[in-house]
Amino acid sequence: MNRSITRRDFMGGVAIAISGGLAWRWSEAQAPKDGYPPTRTGIRGSHEGSYEVAHRMRDGIRWDSPKDTGEYYDLVVVGAGLSGLSAAWYYRESMPDARILILDNHDDFGGHATRNEFWLGGRMLLSHGGTEEISDLRRYNDSGRHLLASLGIDVSRYADFHDESVYGAHELERAAFLGKETFGSDTLLTRAGQSSWGEYFAKTPLSETAQGELVRLYESDVDYLERLSPAEKLEFVRKTSYEKFLLEYAGIGEEALSYVWECVSWAIGLDAISTWVAIGEGWPGTAALGVVDYVETGAVQTEESQFCQFPDGNATIARLLVRSLVPDVAPGNTLDDVVTARFDYGALDSSDSAVRVRLNSTAVNVRHRGDPARAKEVTVSYVRDGRAYRVRAGQCIMACYNAAIPFVCDELPAAQKDALSLAAKAPLIYTNVLLRDWTAFARLGINGARCPGSYFQSARLTVPVNIGGYRHSSKPEEPVVLRLRRAPLAPGLRGQPPPQQWRAGRAELLTTTFETFEEKIRDQLDRMLSAGGFDPARDIEAITVNRWPHGYAYGHDPKTGQFAWMLDELSPEQSPWVGARKTFGRIAIANSDATGDAMTEGAFEAAQLAVGTLTES
Ligand SMILES: Cc1cc2nc3c(=O)[nH]c(=O)nc-3n(C[C@H](O)[C@H](O)[C@H](O)COP(=O)(O)OP(=O)(O)OC[C@H]3O[C@@H](n4cnc5c(N)ncnc54)[C@H](O)[C@@H]3O)c2cc1C
Repeated sequence: MNRSITRRDFMGGVAIAISGGLAWRWSEAQAPKDGYPPTRTGIRGSHEGSYEVAHRMRDGIRWDSPKDTGEYYDLVVVGAGLSGLSAAWYYRESMPDARILILDNHDDFGGHATRNEFWLGGRMLLSHGGTEEISDLRRYNDSGRHLLASLGIDVSRYADFHDESVYGAHELERAAFLGKETFGSDTLLTRAGQSSWGEYFAKTPLSETAQGELVRLYESDVDYLERLSPAEKLEFVRKTSYEKFLLEYAGIGEEALSYVWECVSWAIGLDAISTWVAIGEGWPGTAALGVVDYVETGAVQTEESQFCQFPDGNATIARLLVRSLVPDVAPGNTLDDVVTARFDYGALDSSDSAVRVRLNSTAVNVRHRGDPARAKEVTVSYVRDGRAYRVRAGQCIMACYNAAIPFVCDELPAAQKDALSLAAKAPLIYTNVLLRDWTAFARLGINGARCPGSYFQSARLTVPVNIGGYRHSSKPEEPVVLRLRRAPLAPGLRGQPPPQQWRAGRAELLTTTFETFEEKIRDQLDRMLSAGGFDPARDIEAITVNRWPHGYAYGHDPKTGQFAWMLDELSPEQSPWVGARKTFGRIAIANSDATGDAMTEGAFEAAQLAVGTLTES
């Protein structure tokens, strides 16, 4: 994923043996009863009812006689994710009177940037269903910054929003949970009271050999690539997986590797991501390589990033965009009031509004009326509630997924369809668990854990952020949301090309039932937290599993098989997404695949490029 790498998600010390039986009784969530999309629990993200039409289209089904709605728009945008919403925003900025229709196949807007809203005892508790944060404003180009500023977002206010004292007052830290499925027994480790890595690893169930290797790796300031020149090192770290680096250069074995194993932040394991990424992440064994000193500019950034996170993640950006485009949808006009604003989903698609957002609507055909070189209009057909409809438009922006576009826009040139089809997206599962309190966490001294080898590979309490009228949990006795993450990678495919691993993961996502997710959640939390008094039957109030079969966008060079884990790793000649996004007649292409960049800034940039080609032509 092409983000700047500033998160430091690694580890902790004291071991606490975990035991305790499972309790399967489920306490009902106190969700509002009116079906407000952000409050829906169960399986969200790619929810039932959102993807079936697209899959039928992929399998060759066509909808030949759509009903003409009689509507005409200056622009139709396919996809109400951050790219589609920002495309509508940029377009309206250049054409203030434009009439715009935005179609999306989900029952909520925002795409990955979706909001999970829980209610307990009359209190709102928020989390992000997908997109979490503005990782670093420095990566946003001028038009991306202009968009954020126009929406009222000033990332420097994060210091005021973020209340570090909530967990700080209890000295909570990030732990490591080593589960019995990988390590033979369940162990929760924190660094509290441990003065050295030796003491820390002595508490693990790892063999003495593995412990020794890890102590060396974590304590050492060895340059494992000493024999290489700086230029050779850079070449090496970009082309060599971190796993190979650890096993063959840092000299650790498979057992120690299983402790270091990480995959959630990049949606792929250490077998596939480069040592270059590991350097940027500050992962063990890379500190003394000296590559950052050699690279004066580039994606590895050594200064403080300009980070910002809202209580519902970047869903706040999606909500600000929607409220700006369709003002009647929600009260208020500031960042502070949007966080708690209740959106009127009935107002999204109002004929009174110049911009309309039509949900539960899958675009199945977009084509020019006549010769694409001379046509003045396109037709856009979509399926909603099992029926096909057609609208006319002056222009269209495909802000969905590159790989889906050839099925929808069948008149595109074959070479462009091929280039679009190369886009590979990585699947992920972001789960939010509403807990009635976090006393078990306070007793254990943790606010989350990395969980190498467990079903959920990471667990974290939400970041305490207070904006406007929204108040995060402030005491252990209050409810809180716990975030669990899983990158579904089949162990049998380790070492295989990422797209193969992602395809297998996607299949797993679509076939895993909510009951299975629930069982896994209860089991893992019970084993992790019961020493702190956690009881899944009593303490879990609600679960929302956000599955993202088409998650992070990645740039991929089909000739060499190389992936752009970071943007500057592939040259323009190795970037087929540049040709894939070429505007065709009145149809332009946005979405994060179009910039080969998983991050929000990539989605904005793709939108701005697409709008530029349409409005300047
Ligand atoms: C789990 C997760 C966490 C992330 N965390 C971060 C983060 O912390 N920070 C960050 O900057 N970025 C993050 N990202 C990346 C960021 O979310 C994306 O860059 C951005 O949201 C992508 O926007 P998009 O509009 O291109 O795509 P999407 O959000 O996927 O939106 C595209 C929309 O088009 C819809 N669509 C597809 N086909 C059709 C069709 N035929 N008809 C109608 N609609 C269609 C899709 O269903 C979807 O709703 C994360 C991504 C994921 C998956």
